[in-house]
Formats: sequence, structure tokens, C-alpha cells
Amino acid sequence: MKPSLTTTILPADGTAAEAAADCLAGGGLIAFPTETVYGLGADATNARAVARLYEAKGRPSFNPLIAHVCDLKAAQDIARFDQRSLRLAETFWPGPLTLVLPKAPDCPVSDLATAGLDSIAVRVPAHPVAHDILRAFGRPVVAPSANISGHVSPTTAAHVFSDLAGRIDLIIDGGPVSVGVESTIVGGFEIPLLLRPGGLPREDIERVLGEPLGRITAETHATETSPLAPGMLASHYAPRTTVRLNAKHLDADEALLAFGPEEIPGGAAAMNLSPAGDLVEAAANLFSYLRALDTKGARTIAVMPVPDEGLGEAINDRLRRAAVPT
Ligand code: AMP
Ligand code: MG
Repeated sequence: MKPSLTTTILPADGTAAEAAADCLAGGGLIAFPTETVYGLGADATNARAVARLYEAKGRPSFNPLIAHVCDLKAAQDIARFDQRSLRLAETFWPGPLTLVLPKAPDCPVSDLATAGLDSIAVRVPAHPVAHDILRAFGRPVVAPSANISGHVSPTTAAHVFSDLAGRIDLIIDGGPVSVGVESTIVGGFEIPLLLRPGGLPREDIERVLGEPLGRITAETHATETSPLAPGMLASHYAPRTTVRLNAKHLDADEALLAFGPEEIPGGAAAMNLSPAGDLVEAAANLFSYLRALDTKGARTIAVMPVPDEGLGEAINDRLRRAAVPT
């Protein structure tokens, strides 16, 4: 992506949270301080805003993002808690603990933000500026670190500016944040598992649970019996229907995932990622269209070529994974 936006920097004072919330509501991208590092935030319920976020970071793949909310009640609108996860949330939130839980029914978070999974990663951050923004906005915000993919995580507004100027709308400058340790991620509550070590020590979590946290082993990877199985960290949403890439023609019993103005005619069903050939629009639609075509009873989902530039790289990465036989 060519830097083309004007990036405004605002000090984190009285009106900053409102300005940030307005920007998010308009589909904008904002960087803001959390207690771990500066996050790059987008409205988690707006697939187009989430697609712009991946584009701004230059990520070559879509990994699932953490939805940030202002309190436990807001978290319960998007995720289903059991007793153990509830105890952890009540003890450690706000703070550097992310819980991976089943999505709540009617969860409004976009399929792109969760990379098509039925689970969702959720956290209530402790930084007062993050908290004020989340409260003012009133919807979940996805917020990976505010740096170009592959660069180090930013701990000051100046770091963010040097990476993302011209690619995002707004930076809220709350001063330097504490050393950039990411949040600890816990999931798989049938067997609670440490999915990523981070700012909250494992021992503290185990003390509250009264049992040890499992580790991800080859064995736990293999048993994907529940949507909370840890295999979901390595594996990804894949349609049950076979996926065929670079389709140039279409058989009668195939469904078409099209891209661009020149759709292949025929087939059992068709959806177009972006008739205009816009890669941001295509990324925003990718997971929900794969899911929708998966329910059509077609033999194969035939996918038209998507250019391998900008967000197309991440789209193609995901399509290639979907096409690997399981
Ligand atoms: P971050 O880079 O700090 O934004 O953290 C994002 C990480 O959270 C991803 O790379 C995953 O490892 C993890 N994550 C997010 N959502 C899920 C999920 N539904 N299932 C498993 N892990 C997740
Ligand atoms: Mg990072």
C-alpha cells in the first residue's frame, strides 16, 4: 500500500477518546497505548476496517486478532464463558490476559477478524487511555501491535509514526508504555491450555484455576475434538468442500468464488469477492463467502485467480491453505 492518508497525532487528553471513537466508527484505523505495546485498532465488527488494518500492517497472512473490550460484560456479548474462564476474567481483568473462547451466538465480530474460526480471543486492557477509547466506542476493537509486519512492536507514539505514517488515520499519544511483553493467551477450557506465554505469569493463572495449564503438544494438536482444541492455533478455518485454485472454467457441480468483473458463467452457485477487483473489499468478504459457499452442497469451490499484490498476498495464503486436502 502506498502511504496516502494524513496521519493525525493527538495527545491523550480530555477529547482524545471521543475523537478515537469517531474515527473507529467511520471505519478508520487508530493507534493507541495499551499496557503491553501500542495497538493498531479497528472496529472488529467492520470487515472492511479489519481488511484495511491487515493492509496497513502489510501482513502476508490473516491470523486471528484479539478483540479488545472495556469490561467483562462487553466480553460476554461476544464470547461464551464457562466457570473457569469467568474466574480468570474476574481475577485478572483488566490486564494482560487474553482468553480464547467459543464465539457467542450473534457475535457481531467479523469473520475476517477471527480468521473464520468459531472461537474468539478477547481481552480487557488495563491502560486508562485504551479503556477510555473502548468505553467511548462501545464496540469491540481488534488491535494487534501498531507496526509494519516483521518490525519490532512500538512502545512510543513516535515509533508508531515512523512505521505507519500515511497508512493510518490517527495516533493517540499516551507517552511511552511499559516494556512490550504481549498478553498471555489461555484457551481450550475443557483442558485449560497456555497458548502463548506473556505478561501474566503462568503460575498466577494456575493458582486461580487450582490446576496446571496444559501445553501444546503434538498430541493435543492431533485431537481437534472441540472448537477449543489447541490445534486451532496451528490449523485454520478450512471449508469442508474441496477448494480448487486458479479456476479458468467451471463444471456444473462446482461453486464459484469469483474476483473481478469477468465472472466465469455457470456452476451451482457463485459469490464475487469484489466485482470491482478491489483487494480490500475481497479480503473483507473472504471468510464469510467461503463459509457461505461451503453450505451449497457443491462438489468443489472453484476460486478465480486473485492478484498476488497488496492484500492479495494474504488472500492467496489463506486460499492455498484452504485448498490443502485435510
Ligand atoms: P497479537 O499478535 O498480540 O494481536 O495476538 C494475536 C494472536 O492471538 C494470534 O496470532 C493467535 O496466536 C492468537 N489468537 C487470536 N485468536 C485466536 C483464536 N480464535 N484461537 C486461537 N488463537 C487465537
Ligand atoms: Mg506484533
